[in-house]
Amino acid sequence: SVLTSKDVRRMFIDFFKDRHQHRVVSSSPVRPRGDPSLLFVNAGMNQFKPIFLGSVDPHTEMARYRRVVNSQKCVRAGGKHNDLDDVGRDVYHHTFFEMLGNWSFGDYFKEDSCAMAWQLLTEVYGIPPDRLYVSYFGGDERLCLKPDRDTREIWLSMGVHSNRILPFGMKDNFWEMGETGPCGPCTEIHYDHVGGRDAACLVNGDSADVVEIWNLVFMQYNREADGSLCALPQLSVDTGMGLERLLAVLQDHRSNYDTDLFTPLLASIHQCSKCPEYRGQTGESDVSGVDMAYRVIADHIRALTVCIADGVYPGMSGAELVLRRILRRAVRFSIEVLQSPPGSLARLVPTVAHILGDAYPEVAKETETIMDVINENEAQFLSSLSQGRRVIDRTLWRMDGARLFPGSIAWSLHRNLGFPLDLISLMVEEKGVAMDTETLHRLAMEEEKLKTEAQASDMQSCAELDVLTLTELQNKGVPFTEDSPKYHYSL
Ligand code: ATP
Ligand code: MG
Ligand code: MG
Ligand code: MG
Repeated sequence: SVLTSKDVRRMFIDFFKDRHQHRVVSSSPVRPRGDPSLLFVNAGMNQFKPIFLGSVDPHTEMARYRRVVNSQKCVRAGGKHNDLDDVGRDVYHHTFFEMLGNWSFGDYFKEDSCAMAWQLLTEVYGIPPDRLYVSYFGGDERLCLKPDRDTREIWLSMGVHSNRILPFGMKDNFWEMGETGPCGPCTEIHYDHVGGRDAACLVNGDSADVVEIWNLVFMQYNREADGSLCALPQLSVDTGMGLERLLAVLQDHRSNYDTDLFTPLLASIHQCSKCPEYRGQTGESDVSGVDMAYRVIADHIRALTVCIADGVYPGMSGAELVLRRILRRAVRFSIEVLQSPPGSLARLVPTVAHILGDAYPEVAKETETIMDVINENEAQFLSSLSQGRRVIDRTLWRMDGARLFPGSIAWSLHRNLGFPLDLISLMVEEKGVAMDTETLHRLAMEEEKLKTEAQASDMQSCAELDVLTLTELQNKGVPFTEDSPKYHYSL
């Protein structure tokens, strides 16, 4: 019979606890505690950062950790690891996901961690070894970092064929937590969903057919603020495997959205919408964008529920602003693409609580509050949404075949109506038009500059920027007549 998400999570924890003497530690909240270098927790190792750095308070329990296992709530929607733009477009990047991990703090190192990972995947979960590929760090001359040949040897000695052991550079096989923080070379395990062929060329190639599932990082350095690498006091292992991706493998689905972590949510979304069911991987091509909308909403409502449960509310800066963006994107897809009535998003919260509540009880505790927060924020955005839609449609109509959507108008929607920029681009792209990102970028820089000058001279108002935006608009020759300048101002 097919393993469920609960089985898979539990088997991971039990494997390391019972067979390899790891201590079980619970997930930390998604809001990092006392670490300004991060917006959200982006990996299981975040809460153990002081151990890697050797700065852990010796009087705490954490100072005694040697072998640890956990399943961590992660959010990758800002900072160094930002997957927001891929979400919904592909079927294996989420904003919120669960990372299964095991750690050695100055205990076992490369050989044991590779052996344990291989044993778990091939013996316990029963994945055929001929579907797996492994990668290792191929070195970086510029940084004087040597190729990690030890790891290559270890995989060879475990019987992995040399055609399946592939070297990669800094981007894929040198893991870093953020701009600063613990880092090191890593070895990763990839799964070929198709099989019966040589798929080495698809590893790390953005293909849904061959997906990275597990990363084993050999922590050896700290990335300092000046960019240099400084050796850590001890060698450690830090691993992370995405539960959703592993589950897709074990439930024999090409897409994470076809696993039991998502199917009940997709069904709930369908109940509220006027659209056909989610057809995902097996259906026809997604011309109308309906399938993508399903995926985005399912993804975003998980992130919203988990974040609000952990006390991150949609707001105006930092992680709060990111959450506001996520909420507004979800609202837009729900109302405009799936044509669900207002309130539909909040109605999904109990389903998320049902799916995740066993593993993370806090998610199931305050569902009423979470629903209220989502509804309030949705209501705040709705009138802006219809105003913005009118502006976009009118602009598209007036563009009359022009290729690029004016960056100035996008910018004013962003500034005056609180439209996330990535959302405007999505809305415009849906109509087959590209965004003038160059202008958009320049306007953003100009505002940044004005803000800085304003802070310096302490006498700047936003009015000047409105003029600037308008001039920009006219310079571009956008036919903004009659009501338009006024409309532009009063957006
Ligand atoms: P990718 O190359 O696919 O973006 P990554 O190399 O950025 O993944 P790591 O930082 O190595 O990911 O994280 C460890 C594991 O966490 C990955 O192997 C993957 O299984 C999972 N993972 C990473 N990012 C996501 C995400 N956005 N959604 C779901 N799972 C993820
Ligand atoms: Mg990534
Ligand atoms: Mg990767
Ligand atoms: Mg990786």
